Amino acid sequence: MVNKAELEQKLKKLAGLSPEAQAKAVKTLFTSEELKFLQQQAMHSKQPGKCIFCAIAKGEIRAKIVYDDAHFSAFLDINPANPGHILVIPKQHYEVLPQIPDELLGAYMKLLKILAAAVFEATQAQGVNIIQNNGAVAGQAVPHVHIHIIPRFENDGIKLNWDAKKVTDKQLENIQSRIVAAAQKLAADKAPKKEVDELKKSKTKIEKIKLKKRKP
Ligand code: 5GP
Ligand code: ZN
Repeated sequence: MVNKAELEQKLKKLAGLSPEAQAKAVKTLFTSEELKFLQQQAMHSKQPGKCIFCAIAKGEIRAKIVYDDAHFSAFLDINPANPGHILVIPKQHYEVLPQIPDELLGAYMKLLKILAAAVFEATQAQGVNIIQNNGAVAGQAVPHVHIHIIPRFENDGIKLNWDAKKVTDKQLENIQSRIVAAAQKLAADKAPKKEVDELKKSKTKIEKIKLKKRKP
């Protein structure tokens, strides 16, 4: 059983440490039961006030910030896959990417372009991965949208590959048409009429593609 008062004290102690000291203290300060409790809390927390990335965005918890403006913040990941691994967040609390308002997304993408270039330059990386997890099952540990920019080097040992599932052409076509229908519905709900007409034209294009079988 986790003692909440004791845990609160430990969390306060942790908040006062530097990011490096925090990374070390997490391993020594908490019992495995407390760590499991905290992880579950983080995964299920819908309270922006208790979110660690909200706290970083507000400057309440320290992080090694590399970019900051009115809407976004970027900082070094406390447990980097490689040195120079950063996280780019909207300051407003959204749990998953589809919740972000459209108005913010253009600026988010432009910022990713700038920061990916900055990471390339600063680390002399040979490549970068840009990764974004949505939902605990997809590996999202912190329920506040964040995009990872990870610099990559030859033989750096990072594994992002998966075993491919075997699928038939029929299964591909089935899922293709379901995603096309869902995307068209979602886009049509938002798009002004002119764009809906454009979408209808593109639907015809998609249908043409569907009919055109690829040669093996
Ligand atoms: P996710 O698995 O949710 O996509 O990634 C969460 C990332 O946030 C992890 O890579 C983890 O190391 C990082 N992280 C978790 N807590 C903190 C923190 O308090 N400060 C910083 N800088 N990074 C954190
Ligand atoms: Zn948050």
